[in-house]
Amino acid sequence: MEPTVTITARGESRLREGHLGVYRADIADARASAGDVVRVLGPRGRLLGSAFYSDRSQIALRLVIAGDRPADLALWRERIHAAVAFRDALAIDATAYRLIHGEADLMPSLVVDRYADALVVQALSQAADRLLPDLVPLLVEVTGASGVLARNDPRVRELEGLDRRVELLYGEVPEQVRVREGAIEYDADLWHGQKTGLFLDQRENRAAAAGYAHGRLLDCFSYHGGFALGLASRCPEVTAIDVSDAAVDRIRANAARHGLNHVQALAANVFDELRRREQAGERYGTIVLDPPAFAKAKASVAKALAGYREINLRALKLLEPGGYLVTCSCSYHVNEAMFGQVLHEAALDARARVSVVEKRMQARDHPVLLGMPETYYLKCLILRKMA
Ligand code: SAH
Repeated sequence: MEPTVTITARGESRLREGHLGVYRADIADARASAGDVVRVLGPRGRLLGSAFYSDRSQIALRLVIAGDRPADLALWRERIHAAVAFRDALAIDATAYRLIHGEADLMPSLVVDRYADALVVQALSQAADRLLPDLVPLLVEVTGASGVLARNDPRVRELEGLDRRVELLYGEVPEQVRVREGAIEYDADLWHGQKTGLFLDQRENRAAAAGYAHGRLLDCFSYHGGFALGLASRCPEVTAIDVSDAAVDRIRANAARHGLNHVQALAANVFDELRRREQAGERYGTIVLDPPAFAKAKASVAKALAGYREINLRALKLLEPGGYLVTCSCSYHVNEAMFGQVLHEAALDARARVSVVEKRMQARDHPVLLGMPETYYLKCLILRKMA
């Protein structure tokens, strides 16, 4: 018998509203085991579609396709082709980018990033995990990749009862993979770096920020120097700060490779550094704030907002009139309105008049699925401090 899950009327209306996820509380009956691809039935037994089933996480179902078409390999091949064709159409000026962005590519809980000839995959649900051995040959067939690495070490896998591990699934993936973003080359560490190696979702924001950058640049939460290096040609003096020594070594190596001698990298806590520089009366033409997600769960939103407010307040004080603040939040629990409110409060506290020059989000290869607010996680505002 095919595994089947019956959902409640509330679950059905969630799907009708465009959501792909159905919560465990909206499951009426589950005849399925962990990680099955199941037929989803409505409360009166009508076939609604096929979905990934999890027996552990709060999100019990992730819809793959509505109607009676089965979620088989032919469907996965089509979806991979569609995802790749979309990225090709974007004409991305980089050799590292996201090929498959989960729900927004109708491949729920699956992430695939391309780094030159290598692919890095993440399976973030039981069913995606079980499907990986079938998906890898398809991915290789469609992309011609020479190696596929699973970075199945994100903590969210624990919510699914899955272990956390990094393993080679196909071919070869070297310790260092050289990739290019615009004019800058990086040696990405796909095995150990944060996320899948680099922060690919900021690529377009780095390019946009480069259009405004001038004067002394302070790049806070720099990781491998993405903003610092991308903006360096416009700024006579660049300081990049990250708390991680390993990240700072990378910034230095990347700057040296490009002969960017005016880029300084510093291992420090941004909160302390901003305070210290403010007390020292320093001024900058451009400041970037790209912190890690301060709110990883709903419960930590208040604390996160206080953190965002503090760094933005200090940055606005450090900016000279006419200066630009590129300020980001990648916590999806802090939505655009909340982030805007925090920035407003920070500007009031800093006694600064500030205009919003651009409102941006994650790069287009990480699209948002309309009707699924969780897929809109990265906010990036470019602000200008008025004279
Ligand atoms: N701006 C980067 C991505 C930043 S990710 C890019 O464009 O690629 C966030 C970074 O913040 C991580 O590298 C992490 O090491 C660093 N970080 C986290 N907390 C910090 C703190 N309190 N002070 C300085 N760096 C911090």
